[in-house]
Amino acid sequence: MSDNWNALVDFDKKHLWHPYTSLSHPSPVFPVKSASGVRITLVDGRELIDGMSSWWAAIHGYNHPALNAAIENQLKSMSHIMFGGLTHQPAVELAQRLIQMTPNDLQHVFFADSGSVSVEVAIKMAIQYWASQGQPKKQRLLTIKNGYHGDTFGAMAVCDPDNGMHHLFNDVLAQHLFAQSPNCYGQEQYDQEAIDDLEQLLKSNRPTIAAVMIEPLVQGAGGMRFYSAAYLKKIRDVCNEHDVLLILDEIATGFGRTGSLFAYEQASIVPDILCVGKALTGGYLSLAATLCSTKVAHGIGEGQHPTLMHGPTFMANPLACAVANASLELLLNSPWQQRVNAIEQQLLAELQPCHQLNAVKDVRVKGAIGVIEMHKPIDIQWMQPRFVELGVWVRPFSNLVYIMPPFIIEKAELTQMTSAMRQVVSEVH
Ligand SMILES: *Cc1c(COP(=O)(O)O)cnc(C)c1O
Repeated sequence: MSDNWNALVDFDKKHLWHPYTSLSHPSPVFPVKSASGVRITLVDGRELIDGMSSWWAAIHGYNHPALNAAIENQLKSMSHIMFGGLTHQPAVELAQRLIQMTPNDLQHVFFADSGSVSVEVAIKMAIQYWASQGQPKKQRLLTIKNGYHGDTFGAMAVCDPDNGMHHLFNDVLAQHLFAQSPNCYGQEQYDQEAIDDLEQLLKSNRPTIAAVMIEPLVQGAGGMRFYSAAYLKKIRDVCNEHDVLLILDEIATGFGRTGSLFAYEQASIVPDILCVGKALTGGYLSLAATLCSTKVAHGIGEGQHPTLMHGPTFMANPLACAVANASLELLLNSPWQQRVNAIEQQLLAELQPCHQLNAVKDVRVKGAIGVIEMHKPIDIQWMQPRFVELGVWVRPFSNLVYIMPPFIIEKAELTQMTSAMRQVVSEVH
């Protein structure tokens, strides 16, 4: 690495915050020169096969010609224009696509600039819906443990109360309700005990609950836990029975990752409010959206508080909308379902042997997501460079070694990735 790069990395270490890090105890970072397809090129020339899709986002891989072209074309007319009082084709077209891709009930779209903000908007919608119905006490959310919905204060308040930041910020966080998370991965049935727990909380707090909020089928950054479609279906039934809204956070699971376009399809249910983000732009720019039903939109609009008071400066950014349109078109015109199914089968076959290792607690696969759960917390400072040595980009957290590669990954590339995972995990004692 040249002196110039050493100087950059040194400056980075002293001055830049990276996700979930301390400036007093900085973790090593690897400088990247470029990324193309499923490969990340470091400045020292090493190539890594990408297992993370830059946190669920880069489903088509990096530097894709169609996505590059969408941004270049949009750039020629405008990169940004305020959305207050103005509109533009990329935003309208994207809303049309999202409405078309989702069930008939979901007809209204709020564009946010990140997943966390789309969650904030969803929470606002739910509370405001009930306020507009003359039920202003319905301000709390009911969710399950091990969830993750973002890092802003509203979103943080529905993240797992134990592994999140609840202790530190307890006095400033909204107090929501947490049911036990279900144990029904790989089953046809739902976890009755978990449903009973949730229903009990709902029954005893019903006058104060606005909505149930949950990540469908896959709980991401809160523990990479999976649960059955039957459980999700049951959640919808319970919400109907007790007349609370259902907010689904598909920010991680949306756009094919779990084997269906959206995870809720596997439970044949429809949410009242839906958050999407991450893969929405194919990983190119920050954009998210909150969709809602006409019941919610007009429930708010015709009520005592008709205005939804939210409007990010970069709402519906045209460059982001343009690349999202191109990404969705690319996805729908690709054999994404076959690709995700093939990745699922290969992950099952190639990760399953890790089960026999002493340090491994569990191996699980859902769509294009593969997880090895270890018994003990991982020493990231050791494991991260070890993966880089083996030519793959895998970013473990807590006790989880997991991947969600771009859908375009080739069989041999995925084999290299799973071999590296087996190797590294076998070195843990
Ligand atoms: C990543 C994520 C978020 C937050 O999205 P950001 O764009 O990082 O703000 C919210 N919910 C889920 C399920 C996520 O995976």
